[in-house]
Amino acid sequence: METIIANMRQSVDEAEIRRAADILKNGGLVAFPTETVYGLGGNALDAGASAKIYEAKGRPSDNPLIVHICDMQALDPIVREIPEAARRLADAFWPGPLTMIFKKTDLVPSATTGGLDTVAVRFPSHPVAQALIKAAGGYIAAPSANTSGRPSPTRAEHVIEDLSGKVEMIIDGGEVGIGLESSIIDLTEETPVILRPGFINKEMFSGVIGEVKTDAALLTNDPSVHPKAPGMKYRHYAPKAELTVVEGPQEDVCACICRMAKEAQEKGEKVGIIAAAETAAFYPQELVHVIGTRAHEETIAHNLYAVLRDFDECDTTKIFSEAFDTPSMGNAIMNRLMKAAGQRRIRAGRE
Ligand code: AMP
Ligand code: MG
Repeated sequence: METIIANMRQSVDEAEIRRAADILKNGGLVAFPTETVYGLGGNALDAGASAKIYEAKGRPSDNPLIVHICDMQALDPIVREIPEAARRLADAFWPGPLTMIFKKTDLVPSATTGGLDTVAVRFPSHPVAQALIKAAGGYIAAPSANTSGRPSPTRAEHVIEDLSGKVEMIIDGGEVGIGLESSIIDLTEETPVILRPGFINKEMFSGVIGEVKTDAALLTNDPSVHPKAPGMKYRHYAPKAELTVVEGPQEDVCACICRMAKEAQEKGEKVGIIAAAETAAFYPQELVHVIGTRAHEETIAHNLYAVLRDFDECDTTKIFSEAFDTPSMGNAIMNRLMKAAGQRRIRAGRE
């Protein structure tokens, strides 16, 4: 299939949006930018379109999709009830990087929800996403627009790498803003539960709705504790290289990474190092990729997936990364980084 690339870097192109909407209404797939990462969209109410999404991504069919809407009224027909907490969270964070889990109605095919009787819903803020959802009839199912297992796409080039020839259209909206997937909160439980950390963190949630819990699987490395968001069990976001995250006091981390990098190079590995701007100078300059600055943690979130993809391009075989437990987005950043590392983490100690 020939994939159409539509350029909307500067502004929303209404004619191209109509063309994209026609593709979606006819059961086809369109990748589009959102404020979190690029999404691979299909009509959420069309089981056939959802099946195509799973196929294009190579995604396991028990991993449910998020339904994207562009106004609050669109919620009523697809969910059985809207808890008070959901209304308050919507007031505070929609449109934006928040996904909420509700009990679903029969309008949503089980092909879209991976067989679950709940549905994940998000109202994105990106103008291209909003225009597309509206023109396509109000409901777009969209997981991240990457091949399953690869880092999520934060630029149209990443989507083209993974999905060119597999989808009807890719809308290029330039670089996304946040760079990590939405926060997911489950409102079908008595106390709301965070299923995936994101830009909206636990403090921001409790500031609006009081007590919230964190899914037990996010708090442990024990593989026998199953996450409630089925997708969280997969080793997502994986670079081709073996990635090790090193934590501890800054000086120890730098010394430890330098030593391991040298040892790996001596064994013939192609080594890369992920560091913040503040510490980049402590490493061999030819190995280090600067991910952002700790002073502006959003830069680290923004660049994480692009840096992982860069390493794939240079055929790196071993990556060592600093840990980034930053104040606001640290949970989300470390969740993605540790998944990319297959949970490989060591503590730097003094020798
Ligand atoms: P992605 O769209 O690739 O960012 O992945 C969507 C995430 O939402 C996955 O981790 C899913 O498991 C999760 N998700 C979607 N629908 C539900 C649901 N009904 N219940 C729990 N988690 C869900
Ligand atoms: Mg994904």
